[in-house]
Amino acid sequence: MKAKHIPRIDLHDRMELKNALPLRTPYVIYIDPCDTCNFRCKFCPSGNLGLMKKTKGRGHGPMDFQVYKGIIDSLKDFPDPIRVIRLYKEGEPLLNPHFADMVRYAKQSAQVLRVDTTTNASLLTRERSLEIIDAGLDRLNISVEGVNAEQYRDFSGHKMDYQQFVDNIAFFYDHKGKCEMNIKINGDILTSEQEEAFYRTFGNITDGISVERTIEYWPKYNEMKVEFDEGVSLLGGRSREVQVCPYVFYEMCINSDASYSLCRFDWNHAMLLDHHVGAPPTPKKIWDSIVLWNFQQQFLKKERKLMTVLSCPKCGILKQGVPEDLDEFAEEILDEM
Ligand code: SF4
Repeated sequence: MKAKHIPRIDLHDRMELKNALPLRTPYVIYIDPCDTCNFRCKFCPSGNLGLMKKTKGRGHGPMDFQVYKGIIDSLKDFPDPIRVIRLYKEGEPLLNPHFADMVRYAKQSAQVLRVDTTTNASLLTRERSLEIIDAGLDRLNISVEGVNAEQYRDFSGHKMDYQQFVDNIAFFYDHKGKCEMNIKINGDILTSEQEEAFYRTFGNITDGISVERTIEYWPKYNEMKVEFDEGVSLLGGRSREVQVCPYVFYEMCINSDASYSLCRFDWNHAMLLDHHVGAPPTPKKIWDSIVLWNFQQQFLKKERKLMTVLSCPKCGILKQGVPEDLDEFAEEILDEM
């Protein structure tokens, strides 16, 4: 196998937050190209159409390209460039017909260093691959949901020509130029033979490959009674709960309807920030807003469990998927702020 065992969230060479906070410019901005999905995965609220119909603000569809351009243009308000524009949040990014244009527009901005995305790759035809590579995407993460067509149908409700799917990914790999590729699968749905089949099928058509564990990705999302082991972290180690949410200190999240969420796991748009700043909201206004500052302060004062109106008190991400434990540095960071 040519690919290296690298997780989708690669923490290698990452600057430690504890030495960098507070940030005057966010490191990462998630912008959702489309909040709907063509898959019906059992673990994901976006695939639960009944729930989506009932959820205010969801089911918007693709982000308008002119609105997107306005967001990218407004990044000039920040003193530093954004390290990563992540074209992904809730839905399938390639459902946006302007996806390649979005990549190109961000790459042409002096305020953006890198652009990446995460896709189910079901729409990654050869033609779209060439468009996206030509637009300058820096990293393509692919979520694989099965090792054959039957498993796909069962797990994601999606009928596909599996060999065509694999061939399309191989085509992207063969033509990707400098674009990095990473492929991951949820290991909880695999037997050991299927895990081997996953590595055999994809291990030579990607740069990085990994097997993840099911975690409680979507706070307060329990309609589907997703089963997972709270004791295991995303990457398979032991989980450990922290009190300070690192995400709100370095990421911003913009939904496909151009509203701003406190975090990228805000699947039901229950944690919107844009109502708290003057219209029109911009990334810089949100980043400098008192409402975000108040949330950050509450985390640093270890008051997460008291934030009862939000998903934060019971957030499984802070148990199973944190990139950095800031708890013991909370007081220092509070002083800096
Ligand atoms: S604690 Fe969880 S729900 Fe709250 S902001 Fe952090 S990641 Fe989002």
